Amino acid sequence: MSYIQGMSFVIHGIGVSSGIAIGHAQLMAHAAFEVPHYDIEKNQLDAEVARFDSAMHGTRTELQGLIDKVPAGAPPEFSAFLQLHLMILNDPTLAEEPRGLIRNERCNAEWALKQQMDTLVAEFEAIEDTYLRERRADVEQVVERVLKGLLGHNHATPRSAQGESILIAHDLSPADVVHFKQERFEAFLTDVGGVTSHTAILARSLNVPAVVSLRHARELIHDRDLLIVDGELGAVIVNPDREVLAEYRLRASELQIERRKLARLRTSPAKTFDGTPIELHANIELPGDIEQVQASGATGIGLFRSEFLFLDRNGLPSEDEQFVAYRQVAEDMRGAPVVIRTLDLGADKQLTGLTQQGDNPALGLRAIRLCLAEPQLFRTQLRAILRAARFGDIRLLIPMLSGVAEMRQTFAAIDEAKASLRRDGFPFRDDILIGGMVEVPATAIMLKPFLDALDFVSVGTNDLIQYTLAIDRTDGSVSHMYDPLHPAILQLISGVLKAGARAGKPVAVCGEMAGELRLTRLLLGLGLREFSMHPANVPAVKQRVLQTDLREAEALARRILNTTEPDRAAALLERLNA
Ligand code: PEP
Ligand code: MG
Repeated sequence: MSYIQGMSFVIHGIGVSSGIAIGHAQLMAHAAFEVPHYDIEKNQLDAEVARFDSAMHGTRTELQGLIDKVPAGAPPEFSAFLQLHLMILNDPTLAEEPRGLIRNERCNAEWALKQQMDTLVAEFEAIEDTYLRERRADVEQVVERVLKGLLGHNHATPRSAQGESILIAHDLSPADVVHFKQERFEAFLTDVGGVTSHTAILARSLNVPAVVSLRHARELIHDRDLLIVDGELGAVIVNPDREVLAEYRLRASELQIERRKLARLRTSPAKTFDGTPIELHANIELPGDIEQVQASGATGIGLFRSEFLFLDRNGLPSEDEQFVAYRQVAEDMRGAPVVIRTLDLGADKQLTGLTQQGDNPALGLRAIRLCLAEPQLFRTQLRAILRAARFGDIRLLIPMLSGVAEMRQTFAAIDEAKASLRRDGFPFRDDILIGGMVEVPATAIMLKPFLDALDFVSVGTNDLIQYTLAIDRTDGSVSHMYDPLHPAILQLISGVLKAGARAGKPVAVCGEMAGELRLTRLLLGLGLREFSMHPANVPAVKQRVLQTDLREAEALARRILNTTEPDRAAALLERLNA
């Protein structure tokens, strides 16, 4: 939704990471066609055109090679399809026009090709004939092939931040976000995405404002437009006037002052007003996040999403590479607990080429299911974790457990990894604690056998909500249904906490709910004593914990738990937070 205010207008999406950013727009091309854009010196233009020609030639040879290798029995469409691609490639609109663009605009070959592709695609879209219109995808595929040749690798590298930039993309893959951890963007905006998609979580982990599900941001905003991003409201103000800009500058500096005040709580122990100690741990994606954890005052790592070591790279990290990364985190945390979650790949975090993606990836071969199906991959990680566990208080956490047999298979895989280390003469920690994530409703409903066998559990509310309410967490169109206060969710969380207390086993919450300030008292009242969240949330949550009277929180939490009326629950929550 947008409305025009003279030159200035506002676009609304879903705010997934709060804060205010002011900067200039930097548009990122559609993920599949992310191409660099840079100027070419006049005396380098001939070389750039030659680079373009050589990539075209390479693609021609590549396509011809494929045509020559089509087996005799292959369906005739196969060859026809490749011939069509060769025809598109040889058409002067692709083979000639970009050469002119390189010279006239003095831009790099990739950018010229991309511009030409956009022009062609727009022409195709205007065609009435369905068959011809659908050839648009063929043009895109051909261009992608040439781009890969030009870029010299198989995946697109996003542009670097230039000055105070706000990145605008159609979507960001988790791998893109890993890349952006090294870049300094002031904010992230995407056209698609849901509130607990990994992209949103990662945007939060970059600690900058982010708004997703803006739908047409990439069409409405131009490169270098001045933008204000209000992550709290989920609003983007494009080309703001002077008064609005001044007002937001003031709010941004107020927010900074507030943040500095909260930072003073870093070393105070987290305990409720009446003295009950509470653990506030941090969620991390990469070893480099530790610095932020230490600055936040978190007293441990409650969730290390280890799969991020596997993204944004070619090939898998070896056992030794993983060992070094895990040991580094353990040592940096100086004896504080570090919960390493074993690989949660699949769904929206894909490793190219590892396994076939199912039609419904969130319900498919994901997390522990994928690890049990890929024993070599799992064993390598388990061995690295077991070896690193000697250097600190490392614990194992198994994602997405849904059945007892699966849990036993996992224990067997851990035993097998230990036996192989013994055989190979590597020292490791035999008595490592093993926990399981409660993310599948079946596990939450029938927790006893899991609690009996595991040392601890951690509730992954992002997936628990996704699977209980049947809402795809990456789908912006159902984001409004993401409701941590849904009575079914609160019943499940409360049930897990009670079952944990009965079994004498620790229960943590490490989903986004744990870092939501409006839910801190409710969770305390339901019995939660261990929170794990993004480090940026730790100071504010600690302040809320310090100001909470546990008895009052318990009484109101009980009443919220007993209502099925959303308005009533909201009113009670407001009272609880007053
Ligand atoms: C969760 O599902 O709540 C969780 C913490 O895991 P992730 O967000 O990585 O799926
Ligand atoms: Mg999860």
